[in-house]
Amino acid sequence: MEKILVSACLLGKRVRYDGGAKMLSSEILSQWQAEGRVVLVCPEVDAGLPIPRPPAEIIAGDGGDVLAGSARIVDRSGENLTEAFLQGASLALQLCQRHDIKVAVLTEHSPSCGSTTIYDGSFSGVKRPGAGVTAASLRQHGVRVFSQHEIVEAQRVIQTL
Ligand code: SF4
Repeated sequence: MEKILVSACLLGKRVRYDGGAKMLSSEILSQWQAEGRVVLVCPEVDAGLPIPRPPAEIIAGDGGDVLAGSARIVDRSGENLTEAFLQGASLALQLCQRHDIKVAVLTEHSPSCGSTTIYDGSFSGVKRPGAGVTAASLRQHGVRVFSQHEIVEAQRVIQTL
């Protein structure tokens, strides 16, 4: 049975920068859990970042640009966290490879997990199109990445695998 990578905060784990979760109430997710198919990931905590931690945003680009070395990630105090975010993306990819995962459902807007929209690097609440570092890396390696708002679509894809 296909396993699915899911952001830990969607499953109620209090791993977000502010020490909270982003619990997703979804029958599909509950079914996946009951079937033992969910593999949890929090790229930022897996890379050793603390809970809580200052919010971080990608400066002058998106996750693909960070992977290409042309953009960086800083927290609100200006500390460069690019290496940690790249390490988190790498660990998430390793999880996918270990479990032969082809589909991920990740938390929208995060500089790691966002899949269609992220914050624009101004720390002013403005969003821009683009994916976070982990989402971009997984896509580059063939994993289909969906946000929590697209879980029905993710389920559809899984049923075709
Ligand atoms: Fe959730 Fe991803 Fe942020 Fe971890 S890195 S708290 S899993 S959105």
